[in-house]
Amino acid sequence: MPELPEVETVRSGLAPLVVGSTVTDVEVLRASCVRLQAGGQGEFSANVLGMVLGAVARRGKFLWFPLVLKTAEGARHGGVVVPPTRALSAHLGMSGQFRVFDGEPPEPHPHCRVRLHLDAPGGGRVLDFVDQRTFGYVLTEPMQPTSDGFAGGHGSTLPTLPRTVAHIARDALDPALDDARVIAGLRRGSRCIKHVLLDQTVVSGIGNIYADEALWAARIHPRRPAQTISAAQARNVLAAVRDVMAKALARGGTSFDGLYVDVNGQSGYFSRNLAAYGRAGKPCHRCGAPLAHDRIGGRSTHWCPRCQRSVAWTLSRD
Ligand SMILES: [Zn+2]
Repeated sequence: MPELPEVETVRSGLAPLVVGSTVTDVEVLRASCVRLQAGGQGEFSANVLGMVLGAVARRGKFLWFPLVLKTAEGARHGGVVVPPTRALSAHLGMSGQFRVFDGEPPEPHPHCRVRLHLDAPGGGRVLDFVDQRTFGYVLTEPMQPTSDGFAGGHGSTLPTLPRTVAHIARDALDPALDDARVIAGLRRGSRCIKHVLLDQTVVSGIGNIYADEALWAARIHPRRPAQTISAAQARNVLAAVRDVMAKALARGGTSFDGLYVDVNGQSGYFSRNLAAYGRAGKPCHRCGAPLAHDRIGGRSTHWCPRCQRSVAWTLSRD
């Protein structure tokens, strides 16, 4: 499954290729891809056709393109005159990819679900949403104001975000993330810290791999109840989450080839330098002890039994 760094790589790769382009035609090749659209594929196409893609924005693993109405007045002034009220939202699911082709477009890939035709200098351009396992989706939906008044996500300065993203917390790489609130959230309740990290309501975008990596880096046992974690430890966990994600982002892990924007949820994992995830029985990079492995909440979990002690935790008093 693509994790936040992959989705950010897709976002930053797509932005220069599609922002400012007008959608000149819409092909929905598989209706299930727009299953969240109440009015079906007809409504999806009508909402997207003729609109300008104003940005490529992301919060956690959710992507959206604010849809800008291009008016004659706006065109005359070479810009946008109507603030977007609606967005084209996209989620890559397990295997979603975006592909961009210039000029005469090739036959759609067998797993291409939606193809948008865009205007482009010197000819046409298509934006394909390809999804082999069909867990991904696209839809158009209203934008609503952010609760804190800051930009809705990375890549857009608008203080709005799509309705389906409104309940998702800001992610660890978001400059508007409220650290104090996250630290309090990481220490709340009797659930184990791994559950809290995977719960998208405290801080978003942390998948199974990065949860294990961050807890290993912060030396916190994944089963440790949130309410036993000190403020300093919670701060360390948040710093570790930011660090592992920033490093993954810097390394890439997705392939870029000119106009071809691609993210493959599987291949990237093995090129990363993971310290915990997938290393059951292998020596800890810090202390040499063999790493442990178990399922926690149904998710495959890896940790160092020596660095991430499973002691009798007491409620933190600080
Ligand atoms: Zn260790």
